[in-house]
Amino acid sequence: MSIETPPPPERTDFIRDIVAADLREGRHTAIVTRFPPEPNGYLHIGHAKSICLNFGIAAEFGGQCNLRFDDTNPVKEEQAYIDAIEADVRWLGFDWGEHLHYASDYFGQLYEWAVDLIRSDRAYVDDLSADEIREHRGTLTEPGRESPWRDRSVEENLDLFERMRGGEFPNGARVLRAKVDMASPNLNLRDPVLYRIVHAAHPRTGDAWCIYPTYDFAHGQSDAIEGVTHSICTLEFENHRPLYDWLLDSLPVPSRPHQYEFARLNLTNTVLSKRVLLRLVNEGHVRGWDDPRMPTLSGLRRRGFPAEGIRSFATEIGVSRNDSVVEVGVLEHAIRNVLNRTAPRRFGILDPLKVIIENYPEGQVEELQAINNPEDASAGTRTVPFSRELYIEADDFREDPPPKFFRLAPGREVRLRSAYFITCRDVVRDADGKVVELRCTYDPATRGGDAPDGRRPKATLHWVSAARAVPAEIRLYDHLFSRPDPGADDDLFGDLSPTSEVVVHGFVEPSLAEASVGETIQLERLGYFCPDPDSRPGHPVLNRTLTLKDTWARLQARLGS
Ligand code: ATP
Ligand code: MG
Repeated sequence: MSIETPPPPERTDFIRDIVAADLREGRHTAIVTRFPPEPNGYLHIGHAKSICLNFGIAAEFGGQCNLRFDDTNPVKEEQAYIDAIEADVRWLGFDWGEHLHYASDYFGQLYEWAVDLIRSDRAYVDDLSADEIREHRGTLTEPGRESPWRDRSVEENLDLFERMRGGEFPNGARVLRAKVDMASPNLNLRDPVLYRIVHAAHPRTGDAWCIYPTYDFAHGQSDAIEGVTHSICTLEFENHRPLYDWLLDSLPVPSRPHQYEFARLNLTNTVLSKRVLLRLVNEGHVRGWDDPRMPTLSGLRRRGFPAEGIRSFATEIGVSRNDSVVEVGVLEHAIRNVLNRTAPRRFGILDPLKVIIENYPEGQVEELQAINNPEDASAGTRTVPFSRELYIEADDFREDPPPKFFRLAPGREVRLRSAYFITCRDVVRDADGKVVELRCTYDPATRGGDAPDGRRPKATLHWVSAARAVPAEIRLYDHLFSRPDPGADDDLFGDLSPTSEVVVHGFVEPSLAEASVGETIQLERLGYFCPDPDSRPGHPVLNRTLTLKDTWARLQARLGS
């Protein structure tokens, strides 16, 4: 299907303003940004905000955005995560061209720079344990204490650092620390650790190294090596910026990047912490990293969220320095906006109730024309089979209808979408008295859904032919956590919603027997759905992407009026 994507609204923010000013005032002639994931988990919707920002700025200002794996901790990192992250960034619609980098590509250069720092007496090898270093660090109100090893000679430090690298010492025996200021009000400047001993094979460098740089030592220097101009990260790194600058100013780096911070994305009814997401997977609360309830990009994709909707959500929420929590309804609204325009309409039944059309010939099947998308005339029509036995939604019938219930009831006429008007004549019950079948008649003059005499039933129902419909497993998804602020009462896992996934067995029109993964459709009146990779020939599995009820849009309308 080819549908024009409307251009995103023109937006600016404080980071784009800085970039524009840097270009205008000649501080830079070309813009380079980067997205720096650590390959220790899957990307989530928060990362999407950062990806859209970094790649978006590069595109808007004619610059480049690098994809750089921050692979400095071999214990937690895996090639599988690297592959998945690349696939997710591509799926989201961004391209790093030839600018795929790894912090591990710079291990040699970083080591030399560490030696430079030792030579200029700005780094030392410390024999304190991790616990002792923590004890010496002080607090926000108390200065730290200097390590007894702080005044080692340059020669001794060079010798020990080389032997650390040579593999002479076990994990944790020694670290390399920057010599900054143990009394600094900024804890990150109290002689931060630059290198750790970790005897572990690295996915890319294998056994070449047994010392690894910390995030702080790798990040800014990697930016400088790549000529990054604007190193954009989330607010928790604001306190690291003085160290970022101290290192770049202390080393003979080839360029001078600057770090800017923005507020991370928080969303209601979910969690955006890799650690918690990992627990959800490992403890079996979900079907995996790509469970359709997960806020991971792989989960959202499996749920049927189009990349375009995620990008427009990122534009919509903007970028600022104020921490906030975004209503998940805002994301869902952005997704519905795209799906309403693009999703083909289909018929399906979640909770079937059989209807027999008594005056319709047995064995006859008519192929009726149904509109694929009322929002998009170019989407055309399809045929749906109509026959004597149908299924309608059990919900659409009441034997004893309350006042505002206009759907089917005994003696009442309704329209079947794109088909005929039918009137309910009788009900059939099972031994327990439950209605299991409706006996109806149809009006052959209403073929296509309009009556020559102009009468208009108050309700239009969706339906499928019992003879031709395909049985389908349908997974109804809802928010993973039942409260907007999961864990606020210190029971995060207790806040998991017991109804976040409800599996039902229904029927879908025959065209959906072959629907392919990645194509989100609208089941009329029910919501958006997409085929799940668990589908097997003859056994389609559909995920409910979203219902049609846009509570966010309604709230907006109410506030606006
Ligand atoms: P951790 O560092 O705890 O493993 P992380 O979510 O920070 O988790 P990274 O792989 O380091 O994971 O993140 C890559 C980039 O994505 C970073 O620049 C980070 O600032 C950004 N990012 C992470 N979470 C969010 C979020 N919720 N909103 C916006 N940006 C985010
Ligand atoms: Mg991080």
